[in-house]
Amino acid sequence: MSGEGKRENAFLGLGSNLGDRQSYLDVARRQLAAHPAVQIIQSSSLYETEPVGYLDQGWFLNQVVEIETILDPEELLLFTQEIENELGRKRLIHWGPRVIDLDILLYGNRVMNTPDLIIPHPRMYERQFVMVPLREIAPDLLHPDGISTRQHLDLLHIRGDAEKIRLFQG
Ligand code: AMP
Repeated sequence: MSGEGKRENAFLGLGSNLGDRQSYLDVARRQLAAHPAVQIIQSSSLYETEPVGYLDQGWFLNQVVEIETILDPEELLLFTQEIENELGRKRLIHWGPRVIDLDILLYGNRVMNTPDLIIPHPRMYERQFVMVPLREIAPDLLHPDGISTRQHLDLLHIRGDAEKIRLFQG
């Protein structure tokens, strides 16, 4: 665990498009919360979104979760990958079907770019399935570039290449 033990708020993107999608998200959230160094602060509603990239697959269920943690970003990545592996994610097709995907979207105000970890997540500002749930729980959050979530989503809409998204009613 991180030596300095500084608390940071981080935002995670959860997604599933195989099997019982809602259960996979529930289990992933429970596993996150079970770590002694992670607290879940907020969870967005669930959203259903059309697949991006590889189109011959089912719609995704997506959610954004805010956590507080003393894990550093690399430790957090290892932990989220452990959860993905435990839930049996198979990386058969890039951007293809998956039972669970966990992305680190933001980690405090940190900007980093290493071979294993890019923060803010490199594709988040193009994706409604990230930005819509993020706006639900943190509309006025200022990102490392000084722009708020709300403004980032407006910019995404102005660019006009957004995938379809709808609130999931269960
Ligand atoms: P994906 O298949 O899209 O989940 O990508 C997984 C890979 O992305 C892993 O090998 C990670 O090392 C890398 N990666 C880079 N930045 C991030 C991030 N912010 N969150 C999660 N994975 C990341």
